[in-house]
Amino acid sequence: MLRENTARPAPPPAGHIRPLAILVYHSIGRGASPITMTRERFRGQIAALQRAGIRGVSLGEALTSRRRAGGRRVVALTFDDGFADFATEAWPVLREAGFSATVFLVTGRLGKDNDWPGQPGWAPRLPLLSRGEVRRLAREGVEFGSHSVSHPWLPTVAPDVAATELALSRQAIEAATGAPCRLFAYPYGALNAALRFQVAEYYSAAVTTELRIAVPADDRYRLPRIDATYLAPALLAGAIYSPAVGAYLALRRAGRGVRRTLLRDR
Ligand SMILES: [Zn+2]
Repeated sequence: MLRENTARPAPPPAGHIRPLAILVYHSIGRGASPITMTRERFRGQIAALQRAGIRGVSLGEALTSRRRAGGRRVVALTFDDGFADFATEAWPVLREAGFSATVFLVTGRLGKDNDWPGQPGWAPRLPLLSRGEVRRLAREGVEFGSHSVSHPWLPTVAPDVAATELALSRQAIEAATGAPCRLFAYPYGALNAALRFQVAEYYSAAVTTELRIAVPADDRYRLPRIDATYLAPALLAGAIYSPAVGAYLALRRAGRGVRRTLLRDR
């Protein structure tokens, strides 16, 4: 019997009462690559948010505090894979701006690099944060979430293996930070109904790579995110929640769908 068919209460609402843009970054560095945004472009985006009076916060803060936040607009800033350049390039800029962020770690590779199976050949190999750096950043206010132990394609692994990936990564993060780890980012954005329910046993919310702004009706275990590489600073300057950006993201989404279909058919 599939778990998703068993009677289960509906998940709680996502905890925010207005649309929420959850941005996703990977590496920030000196030169651009398919997973690296240049530090200049990153700084430009953060400055554009500041000019627009929009605050960048961790996902945990965005999900729990928006009801109390009054008229203040926020976006959630997330960083996948835990690249070491978060500490040297991104965090100093965010701190200076008074922003926070959530970093999703691959706990089996702390202090190593992103050379996990399934990493496409075009992706550069880059160093990841060490356990000591995670501890220090947590003290400075960075929120850490889980991105699994080994970055597998979770929908295809055995349920007990998936359970181990979910449980051990949470444990490792809590041991390193001394704080509860409640957020999960699906490796490759890949999930199915069974995995979603499994994640709900260990975490209070989870993010995908579905390209759109989150709305209050969204399942909190399938929260969509916006790849920040798609966002020109002008788009962020006061307009992130405008209908025009929604339409733009729909176009990008369609383009991505076409690319995926082409790749599948190859
Ligand atoms: Zn990843």
